[in-house]
Amino acid sequence: QPITTDMATLTKEIDKYAKDKKLEIETLKVREEYRKEFLGNVSHELKTPLFTVQGYLLTLIDGAQNDPKIREKYLNRANKGVERLIYIVRDLDMITKLEVGDLSLNVERFDIVELVESVFDLLEMKATKKKITLTFDMDYNEPVFVNADKERIQQVLTNLIVNSIKYGREKGTTEVSIENLIKNKVIVRVTDNGEGIAKPNVPRLFERFFRVDKSGSRKEGGSGLGLSIVKHIIEAHDEKIYVESEFGVGSEFSFTLEKAE
Ligand code: ADP
Repeated sequence: QPITTDMATLTKEIDKYAKDKKLEIETLKVREEYRKEFLGNVSHELKTPLFTVQGYLLTLIDGAQNDPKIREKYLNRANKGVERLIYIVRDLDMITKLEVGDLSLNVERFDIVELVESVFDLLEMKATKKKITLTFDMDYNEPVFVNADKERIQQVLTNLIVNSIKYGREKGTTEVSIENLIKNKVIVRVTDNGEGIAKPNVPRLFERFFRVDKSGSRKEGGSGLGLSIVKHIIEAHDEKIYVESEFGVGSEFSFTLEKAE
């Protein structure tokens, strides 16, 4: 077959090739930046609890172990630090899988009302410690079936409800409600009357490692990954997540799910 490519077509093709290559390089650059930033964050997050644990252990070695009361206190604190490290590593593992797209969803039909109730049961103790009431606002007392990955949605509910307790006020309330949205969607809301989030921080909540209180000294440390895990899971389902919050008044996190027949 004769080669019919004229000069103009050839130039066009070369331009397109160059443009594609440039885009490819840009994408690789962005990925590399992202990877560097992620690694930087990870080592920073691990350093704090590691130094805390080391601090307690060194003090014990330096003689504090001779006082049984102090010994017990410091060992417990060191253990808390190790617990925190375990949480961080577990969440990192999850987020890595979610971001690499390695985590396939296991979609099934299940009753979301029952799932909320089981998460309430698991978190009852945690809530009671802060005298927080967990309430379920339902129009009808009947099951609501959805199609989703049950285990992952349990994680979403757990992370949101744990946050509402952690950042909730003493004797406060966490309310979960489920409503029909459009024809084949439901919306699940988790509302608290806790400390709320200042406006400038709201758009950043789902970022990895973002925390309003940076000191990390707060009693209830988390990994700072909880909400980014939540967002990934909901987006993997092709669903939406929303947040509304008012500083000093409370917050509402909500997400959509596909209704099942
Ligand atoms: P963390 O491990 O710090 O709880 P998350 O990703 O779950 O990480 O949440 C990120 C930050 O968002 C928290 O550190 C907190 O400042 C804020 N936040 C999350 N949920 C709430 C809530 N219900 N009320 C107020 N602030 C919240």
